[in-house]
Amino acid sequence: MRIAVVGAGLGGVAAAAGLHRLGHEVTLFERGPELREAGTGIVVMPNGLRALDALGLGGDVRGHVMRVSGGGLRDWRGRPLLVTDLAQARQEVEMPAMADRAELHRALRAPLPAGLVRTATPVERLEPGPAGVTLISGGGPVARADAVIAADGTRSTLRAQLFPGHPGVRRTGRMDLRGMLPRPAGLATELLATQLVDRRSGAMFGLFPIGENRLYWFTDSVLHGGPPGADEARRQMLALMADWHPLVTALIEATPPADVHVDAICHLAEPLPAFAAGRVALLGDAAHAMSPDLGQGAAQAFEDAAALCRHLAGAEPADAARRLLDYDAERRPSANRVMRAASRQSRLTSRTGIAASLRDTLLRAVPSRLATRRLAALWHVQDEPPGARDVAAGQ
Ligand SMILES: Cc1cc2nc3c(=O)[nH]c(=O)nc-3n(C[C@H](O)[C@H](O)[C@H](O)COP(=O)(O)OP(=O)(O)OC[C@H]3O[C@@H](n4cnc5c(N)ncnc54)[C@H](O)[C@@H]3O)c2cc1C
Repeated sequence: MRIAVVGAGLGGVAAAAGLHRLGHEVTLFERGPELREAGTGIVVMPNGLRALDALGLGGDVRGHVMRVSGGGLRDWRGRPLLVTDLAQARQEVEMPAMADRAELHRALRAPLPAGLVRTATPVERLEPGPAGVTLISGGGPVARADAVIAADGTRSTLRAQLFPGHPGVRRTGRMDLRGMLPRPAGLATELLATQLVDRRSGAMFGLFPIGENRLYWFTDSVLHGGPPGADEARRQMLALMADWHPLVTALIEATPPADVHVDAICHLAEPLPAFAAGRVALLGDAAHAMSPDLGQGAAQAFEDAAALCRHLAGAEPADAARRLLDYDAERRPSANRVMRAASRQSRLTSRTGIAASLRDTLLRAVPSRLATRRLAALWHVQDEPPGARDVAAGQ
């Protein structure tokens, strides 16, 4: 079957590589001039790792499975709130992996022959016809496909075309900074794989190791007005976190502004009515853009890609629409559940005032064994409706 994948982010390349491996005639369209993923790190949750295994792509990233033993939530000064024991969790579930985004993207796209990739080709719209779907770029047709996978990200053009009545994405009112840097010698390890939350401002800082030699950190805080540039955002964070654990400001200061990424966080204003329409399916952030609070965005995109490959294995052009409906039936309920859980997690960690004091008191009362079991259940994600499981997760 001729399959066009639109968008070469982590989700699009994983889907294209998996579909190519199945023997489909795949073309990957990317609007950018080259295939690349912006820097910093990413947590790949165990469900994402399993999906990559199913796609035959798990090898490289599994080399980065976390080996730290601490984890949990702390207050802004680094005092424990919810202590998890990752050595214990490791006996119950797989650990997430921590990867460099650019390296992960390179590993996922490695199996794709260069001839299948068309960069600098923004797909503006799709024209469905009886014999397939025509992709329009630069005002004219660029390809015809039996099925199209729209993996064109949070602000998906194709989602807006398929569901013109859907309100699209909206800002959550939060801003995230992300940075990556060499691991300083003699670094205290108790803050690794940990998130620090501040009940006064509702801000958060997370720190994860990438391999032996690098660190990935992120902040999450209220966004006032439009998102600032990296310099200004970094300055704001240093001011906001001036009295936090000294490692926090030291790491932010040690990261050059050029290596700091700033995002105004967006999520879908409401779930989509379908992930498929005719011969077109949505995948990744195009289908379920969510806040990053559970560290599940890419993992869900990998689950989408693995499910698509299962449903399109051996498919003929005439089967495309029916197979994509099966994909929708499998993926939409669970991805939408995770999207809602991510919003709840964001509300929980960004609380301020009395609600946050209460949260911290309750978290301190949770025994480490129970906290670890909850974390393990959260990482085991996510086939059942998440309830009180929304505790400390990665971002
Ligand atoms: C601060 C932050 C931290 C995060 N941390 C994590 C984490 O730790 N773990 C995790 O699993 N997830 C995390 N996520 C979420 C994760 O990054 C995304 O869910 C994932 O990268 C989405 O991949 P995607 O392929 O769906 O979309 P994208 O990566 O956005 O890719 C879309 C691609 O489509 C291209 N494109 C767009 N429009 C067109 C068009 N019309 N024609 C052709 N090409 C087009 C774009 O150029 C881009 O290359 C985080 C997100 C944020 C903002």
